[in-house]
Amino acid sequence: MKYAFKPIAPVTLPIVNSNENFPIRRIYCVGKNYADHIIEMGGNSKRNEPVFFTKSPQALIKNYSKIPYPRNTTNLHYEVELVVAIGPNGVFGYSVGLDMTRRNVQKIAKDKGGPWTRAKDFPNSAICSDITLINQVEIQNAEIKLFKNNKIVQKSNISKLIWSINEIMSYLENDMDLKPGDLIYTGTPAGVGPVLPGDTLLGQIDGLETINVKFI
Ligand code: MN
Repeated sequence: MKYAFKPIAPVTLPIVNSNENFPIRRIYCVGKNYADHIIEMGGNSKRNEPVFFTKSPQALIKNYSKIPYPRNTTNLHYEVELVVAIGPNGVFGYSVGLDMTRRNVQKIAKDKGGPWTRAKDFPNSAICSDITLINQVEIQNAEIKLFKNNKIVQKSNISKLIWSINEIMSYLENDMDLKPGDLIYTGTPAGVGPVLPGDTLLGQIDGLETINVKFI
């Protein structure tokens, strides 16, 4: 194959306790998947159809990064989330992710009924820890927490997901295409809030590698 110019290298994530890397194909995200977060955003927590959006693999940024505060926002928000990594035989493993959101841009999109792309899929908006293999962790009742500057701001439990991991996977298989290399950000609990330059974010899910990043 002769390319007109050099194609970009695949985006990858390290795998905990392995020298292999996970090649990323697509990044799916679920919105409105914890009742307390839907209520804090002014919505109705009755179980409706799941909400999906996507981020580009190129938006991914790894653990321990120093992240430049993004352009064109006055209200960058954190959202800590369980990330499910899909392999050749279904769930491959899990990570802790931060679905960074330009909330002011999202509000304009919501008010106008426009797409969320600019609010969600910008450089360094998909923060993700290394992947822990499925056989090395029990995730069903794991606590999920986020600390901003060492102060706890989000706390919930994976058992509170409105749409379970299996339901989300089944929906994506039938409605989109779910393939090895896909990541799914499964939604955030209540407590979302702003990030400013100088802030550190530390996200924990029992049994997974803690995510630890700083905005500069
Ligand atoms: Mn989210």
